[in-house]
Amino acid sequence: MAGQLRGRNRRLKRIPYSRQCIDQDDIDAVVEVLKSDFLTQGSKVPEFEAAVTQYVGAKYGIAVSSGTAALHVACLALEIGPGDRVWTSPISFVASANAALYCGAEVDFVDIDPDTFNMSVSCLAAKLYEAARVGTLPKALIVVHMAGASADMQQIAALAASYDIAIIEDAAHALGGHYQGRPVGCCQYSVITCFSFHPVKSITSGEGGMAMTNCPQLAERMQLFRSHGITRDRQKMNRDDGPWYYEQQVLGFNYRMSDIHAALGISQLRKLDGFISKRIALASQYRDALVDLPLCLPVFSADSAWHLYVIRVKSATRRELLYQHLKRQGIDVNVHYIPVAVQPFYAIGADVPNAENHYSAALSLPLFAELSDDAMERIIGCLTRFDW
Ligand SMILES: *Cc1c(COP(=O)(O)O)cnc(C)c1O
Repeated sequence: MAGQLRGRNRRLKRIPYSRQCIDQDDIDAVVEVLKSDFLTQGSKVPEFEAAVTQYVGAKYGIAVSSGTAALHVACLALEIGPGDRVWTSPISFVASANAALYCGAEVDFVDIDPDTFNMSVSCLAAKLYEAARVGTLPKALIVVHMAGASADMQQIAALAASYDIAIIEDAAHALGGHYQGRPVGCCQYSVITCFSFHPVKSITSGEGGMAMTNCPQLAERMQLFRSHGITRDRQKMNRDDGPWYYEQQVLGFNYRMSDIHAALGISQLRKLDGFISKRIALASQYRDALVDLPLCLPVFSADSAWHLYVIRVKSATRRELLYQHLKRQGIDVNVHYIPVAVQPFYAIGADVPNAENHYSAALSLPLFAELSDDAMERIIGCLTRFDW
C-alpha cells in the first residue's frame, strides 16, 4: 500500500518550468498587514519602493499592480500617444509591445541577436538609418533583457541618443542581474526601467511591478498615472477648495499595489541575492551536464539574473519531440517566445528572421531557486536519454 502510494506520488510529481519560493517569513509579513489598519495605501508600498530603489541604485521607484502597468505608466509619462512609434524586441512577452498600443502608438519590432536573444545592435542601427531616411523614427525603444541577461545597453543608448529616442528597459526578467558592474534598474542607459513581481520572476509580490527612474518629473507623472491622475499636493493644484480637496489633472488608472503585495515583496527582496546565486548555480550545472548534447546552450554569464534557461534544438521537429518527451516524464518545459510580431493580432509583416528561427528551435528548461537536486538529476537524465 505504502509502496503503491509512493509510486503514484512519484508519477504525479511534476516539475514546473518555474515557481515562486515562499517561506514562513513571507507568510508572516503578509499576515501582519492583514491584521493592521491598512491593506492598501499604508506604509508598506513606500517601504517596498525605497527598498528596491536602494537595491538597484536608482533615485525613484513607483510600485504598481503589475509589470505591464509599470510599462504602461512609463509610456504615459513619456507622453507616447497616437502618431508616435515605439520599437521593441519580438522575442518577449506580449506586454512589452501592448504597453505602447494602450497609448495609441504604433509598434514595430527590431530583430534579435541570435546568440543573446536580445535586441540586435546592428539590426537596430540599420533600421534607425532607414527610418531616419523615410521619416518614421520611433519616439521610444522598449528594450527587453531576455531571460535575465542585459541587452547591450551602452551601444543601444548611444544609437538612440543620436536620433533623440527615449529608452525604457523592460527588465521583467532581470531584477538581480547586472550590466557593466551595476545592477539592472539603475537607469544608467535609460530613462525608466520596469520590473515585474509575477510569481515566475526573480522575486514575487503575487502580482506587481515597479518603474524605476532617476528623473523627478517622470517619477511624479508615473505616480499621477498610477492613481487616477489625482494629486493631493497643494503646490501643484489649480485651486484649493479646502483641506478635503484633491484634483484630477490627467486621465490616470487604478494601478496601485496593495500593502499586502508590498509586504510580500519586501520580504522576498531580502532573499533576492540568494535566489539569484541559486539560479546561477543551476545554469552552470545545466551547462556542464548538457555541453556534449547536440544543442545550442545559452551564453553563460554570472551577470544574468537567469530568469530562463533557453536551449535551442537542431530543428523544429526535434524541438517538438523533445517537448513531448519531457512533458511525458512530468517535466514542464515551455517555449519563450512566440515572436510578438507574428502573433495574429500584431501580424504587421515585420522582418524578423532571427526571431522566427529562435522560435522554431527554442525550449526553456525548468529553472527556479528551489529546483531540487533530485529534480535536476531527473531533467538531465531525461535530456541525456532523448533520442537525439
Ligand atoms: C512578465 C513580463 C511582463 C509583464 O509583467 P506582469 O507583471 O506579468 O504584468 C512584461 N515583460 C516581460 C518580458 C515579462 O516577462
